[in-house]
Amino acid sequence: MFYRDTWVEVDLDRIAHNVSHIKEHSGYEHLFAVVKANAYGHGDVEVARAALDAGATHLAVAFLDEALSLRLAIKDVPILVMGPVRVEDISLAAEHKIHITVHDMDWIMQAAHYRGPTVNVHLKMDSGMHRIGLTSAATLALANSTLREHKHINLVGLFTHFATADSCKDYYSQQLKNVAEMTAGLDLNTFEYVHQSNSAALLYQTPQPNANCARLGIAMYGLAPNNEMSSPVSLKQAFSLHSRITQVKSILAGDKVGYGATFEANAPMKIAVIPIGYADGWLRYHQNRSVSIKGKLYPIVGRICMDQSMILIDETITTGDQVDLINDQCTVDMAAKDLQTINYEIVCSISDRVPRRYLQGGVTVSERNDRFRHLSI
Ligand SMILES: *Cc1c(COP(=O)(O)O)cnc(C)c1O
Repeated sequence: MFYRDTWVEVDLDRIAHNVSHIKEHSGYEHLFAVVKANAYGHGDVEVARAALDAGATHLAVAFLDEALSLRLAIKDVPILVMGPVRVEDISLAAEHKIHITVHDMDWIMQAAHYRGPTVNVHLKMDSGMHRIGLTSAATLALANSTLREHKHINLVGLFTHFATADSCKDYYSQQLKNVAEMTAGLDLNTFEYVHQSNSAALLYQTPQPNANCARLGIAMYGLAPNNEMSSPVSLKQAFSLHSRITQVKSILAGDKVGYGATFEANAPMKIAVIPIGYADGWLRYHQNRSVSIKGKLYPIVGRICMDQSMILIDETITTGDQVDLINDQCTVDMAAKDLQTINYEIVCSISDRVPRRYLQGGVTVSERNDRFRHLSI
């Protein structure tokens, strides 16, 4: 339920389409659906369920908090935390059947004293991204042997992350080479999961021969990591953002609109107000962009406020009309281009103040309003 005329729609059929086609294209046995950051703003529980129904086998998030909250709704599927977890929180992860990432030798030394329930871990190699992970063949070998001897730690996975699978082929190849060198002394068959690909590698590179799974993020949502490269799978944008006009008013030449009075009418005009603002992640940078009403584009005028925005409309538009801020006409990619950012940031930015509505077969199957989350847990 929600009582405000602004909402996100997530088309779960499109998520399913993206997941099943990408999985088929990849040929990997396992697929981690990456649902960090509340499933890139789409809603983690709902997307996770749709992705699992469509062929994803595991889930992945960035932080333990995300995994624990997802675990309240999804009981059986392994959830991997891809970022570092504090040593003192290992038992919490283990109790909830959450797989964690081992990223550092110091961490392993501290975890040597761990005596809680057995925890499944994935070893992270830094093969060139230079974010988290072990950086040499020697440390990887040491980490491997130390963890294998630990009675309460179960080493199940080995993975790395690519920095340029969608742009620089040379650097990507260099990372592959580094992986080969780093793992030369290891028996990869001793790992249940070997994963390297993100969306970009899944779409634009051939599957890595030693891997049996991948981590699918942005492309699951129907957004391409790089629009300049052709995708072997048709991606369908699942996210759209809508509002409804709460007031229409006429202004005269010389009248000004919004904080700072930055927009001045040069003729009599009609202005519509919609209940969405920067606190919803509808950032002030969207000022001067256009939104769609009944398929026609209208510009946002004046500064975007915390809770409301103003649009310059014409005689055909009235109070109560639906406004489409992001849809198939005003796409996430267009917004990203206008804001000089990436599609990831546009969808992640839409805050949890905006309720999410989930569609399947063209009808609403569920709703999520995080304002009322304490009522549903
Ligand atoms: C976020 C993330 C992914 C998913 O990346 P996409 O580009 O969205 O597919 C995969 N692996 C790691 C380690 C990540 O942090």
